[in-house]
Amino acid sequence: MVTKVGGDVFGGMVRQNFASQGIALDTIFTDESLASGVAPILVDDEGHNLVIIVPGANNSLSAAEVNGSRSVIQSARILICQLEIPDEAILAAFEIASQSGVKIIFNPAPARPVPGRMLALADLLVPNETEAELLTGIPVGSLEDAARAARALHTMGARTVIITLGAQGALLFEDGHASHFPAPQVRAVDTTGSGDAFIGSLAVSLARGKSLPEAVQFANRAAALSVTRIGTQISFPTPDEIDAFNG
Ligand code: ADP
Repeated sequence: MVTKVGGDVFGGMVRQNFASQGIALDTIFTDESLASGVAPILVDDEGHNLVIIVPGANNSLSAAEVNGSRSVIQSARILICQLEIPDEAILAAFEIASQSGVKIIFNPAPARPVPGRMLALADLLVPNETEAELLTGIPVGSLEDAARAARALHTMGARTVIITLGAQGALLFEDGHASHFPAPQVRAVDTTGSGDAFIGSLAVSLARGKSLPEAVQFANRAAALSVTRIGTQISFPTPDEIDAFNG
């Protein structure tokens, strides 16, 4: 994990949380003069959510700090990056990863326009429907729309694209060909964090050497399980639970 926290109580909680999960703290930078990034979440009775993102210290993670984290990135099999840090920090991480043969999964969230180089450097671009629409201008309301948006993203420079489709699962666009992977049917109580559950478990599966279609199915199972539970990180299943779930 390469990130930056502030000098407030949330920064301490982030460190504690990472330490308890066995995540190294060496590249968790701190700026005592800033507030930590936070994301209060509102969930309605149908399980839909609204996330208010306050970037705080995330906004000041610099390219120099990312470059200083080079060996951590180089030692990874997969780099996952979102848009919650500045473009220069993201691009620095992408350059290191691509020069070192580390596979890059790019989740363009929260949605905003991105430089073409970011799309070109990523091995896998994984937007949700809203993010795909923001990047392409194509509203994604059906599988056909998703296939068109994925093709448009490919034309814009993205190599392989996975568009997550909520309860409909995900669409994989690889080598000019779109395939749909339905999500297991579950009773959703809180969909917050499902995109993160999907992407994290996709990375786990790819790092275990699985193929992309296998990894997408694993990620669908993980994310579907996560929406049956309240919360974000605490709703994520373990790899064993995902393997055991045949939904
Ligand atoms: P985000 O949370 O980023 O908006 P999505 O809503 O596309 O992303 O959801 C991500 C993944 O979570 C989906 O691809 C799917 O695997 C799973 N998922 C989300 N909602 C449901 C649901 N109601 N039932 C089953 N799986 C779901």
